[in-house]
Amino acid sequence: MYKVLPDLAPPQTALERLPEEWSAQLEAWGEPKYRGKQVFEWLHKKGVLDPAAMTNLPKSLRERLAQDLVIDAAIQVSSVHDSGDGTKKLLLATHDGRTSEAVLIPMPSAERGDLYAAEDPSGDDEAEAAPAVPVTECISTQIGCAMGCVFCASGLAGLKRHMSAGEIVGQVIQGRAHTAAGHRLRNVVFMGMGEPLHNYAAVARALTLLTHPEGIALSKRRVTISTSGLVPEIERLGRDFGGEVQLAVSLHAPTDAQRSEIMPINKKHPLPELMEALRRYPLPKRRRITIEYTLIRGFNASLSDAKKLAELLRGLPSKVNLIPLNRVEGNPLEPPSWDDVDAFQAVLRERGVANFVRRRKGDDIAAACGQLALRNEPKRIRVALPQLRD
Ligand code: SAH
Ligand code: SF4
Repeated sequence: MYKVLPDLAPPQTALERLPEEWSAQLEAWGEPKYRGKQVFEWLHKKGVLDPAAMTNLPKSLRERLAQDLVIDAAIQVSSVHDSGDGTKKLLLATHDGRTSEAVLIPMPSAERGDLYAAEDPSGDDEAEAAPAVPVTECISTQIGCAMGCVFCASGLAGLKRHMSAGEIVGQVIQGRAHTAAGHRLRNVVFMGMGEPLHNYAAVARALTLLTHPEGIALSKRRVTISTSGLVPEIERLGRDFGGEVQLAVSLHAPTDAQRSEIMPINKKHPLPELMEALRRYPLPKRRRITIEYTLIRGFNASLSDAKKLAELLRGLPSKVNLIPLNRVEGNPLEPPSWDDVDAFQAVLRERGVANFVRRRKGDDIAAACGQLALRNEPKRIRVALPQLRD
């Protein structure tokens, strides 16, 4: 039997119930217990949200579900934007009139080997006659973000609210429904709008739902949580999921002083404290932590920065994901030249630090990292951009 985490907060909406919670609910309605699993499978495995279409349930139960389910709290897709490179951005509408975004990124085999193709140490991919193109979905966890990193569009309007577990899982259900024929949603990265670990309770329930064997059944190592470095919640995630969930950490600077200039969270949890937490994360054998490093021209992209980064990561099982900065409207920060990116990479390689450059995806529809933003919301005025060198 799948173990429910002991400290999971109670479900708020229908989409958030686990099979055993459905069974308890349905038993209270006088239904047999096994119907709980059936309803859960309809919602999560089959992605059917309309009770009228749940054909193996008696009509009376379908009618009751239609009345009692608060499925309207689940997220809706209000429009879909296709990028020339195959990336699709889903604009999401919430029940209370908020908007958010999720992105579907197909990864044809020639382009794999980076973050989106999760490591597969067990090599247990099914052999398929014509293998489906794997798709990674990048999902949001908050409406806006409170963290205020200076290079990112998501936090410009501040935090409006947390997203519920149902809204988080709803993005994956919708993502699967919008996945093209011949494609298959394989990886989910919590790298859209918001800081996942700032919304820990909802994210923990969403992880439990997404990886539940009777539901979407994503493998934990194919789900990546990216964090700006909330140390207590990194520890909690490690404890609650035994280190199985892939962890990505937005480092972005090789020294404590530099990091504080661009990421306010670093003043609360300074770099040495974060590195300590990463070294303690209960990583399974042969797995590595992803270190995200956004390259910003004149700030953190010099050869000396690369050497300091290699030094900082010494002994930590990690792979560095270099992200040349995606431009954000109204923000003067720029990416380095491709020659500088190559030179930075070469220094890491010489020092034995595994790394890859994340190719720009969905730039033309503002779906790239750090470009997901709240539309039509007043933006905060930025106070302090980092000191740039020539
Ligand atoms: N809030 C989480 C996850 C979402 S952001 C976090 O910060 O980790 C996903 C990644 O994109 C993070 O590494 C983030 O720092 C990075 N990012 C943000 N703005 C960016 C930009 N303008 N260009 C490139 N990467 C950016
Ligand atoms: Fe929030 Fe992540 Fe953007 Fe920082 S980089 S503002 S933590 S979404």
